[in-house]
Amino acid sequence: MKHVSLILLMILFISCKSEAQQEEASKKFEVQKTASEWEAELTDEEYKVLREAGTEPPFSSPLNKVKEPGTFVCAACGNPLYKTKYKFDSGTGWPSFDRAIENSVVYSSDMKLGYERSELLCADCGSHLGHVFNDGPEETTGMRHCINGVALDFTPKEKS
Ligand SMILES: [Zn+2]
Repeated sequence: MKHVSLILLMILFISCKSEAQQEEASKKFEVQKTASEWEAELTDEEYKVLREAGTEPPFSSPLNKVKEPGTFVCAACGNPLYKTKYKFDSGTGWPSFDRAIENSVVYSSDMKLGYERSELLCADCGSHLGHVFNDGPEETTGMRHCINGVALDFTPKEKS
C-alpha cells in the first residue's frame, strides 16, 4: 500500500511539473489569447491545426500550388513566416519550405507518433504550424519545413 501511494505521489509530482513547464513555455509569446478567443477568431480547421496541433489532409491546401512571389503569414496572428522563394515541391502534399524568415518560428518537440519530431511554432503567438525534417533540398539548407497550408495566409508581392 505504501508503494502505491508513493507511486501516485510521484505521478502527481511529474504531471504538475510538466504542466508548469508548459505554462512557462506558452508565456513567452507576445500574442496571448484564451482558447475561446482563438476559437471565435479562427475557423474550425484553423483552430484544430493552429491551437490543437492537428494535421490537415495531404494535398488539401490550395497553397501547395502557389508559385508567385509573396509572403506566407501566420493565419492566427499575421506574423510573416515564409517567402515563396523558400518554397519547394516536396511531393508530400503539404506546403514545404527550406527555411523560415529569420526569427519568425520557434522549435519545440513532440512525441505524438512515438518518436521525437521537431515541431514548428509561430514565434509571435505560439500557434502550431507543422514539423521540420532534415531531408530537404541538399543544394540549399537540407531542411524541410512541412507546414499545414491552413496555418498560413498568402500575401502576393505587390508588383512595382
Ligand atoms: Zn502567429
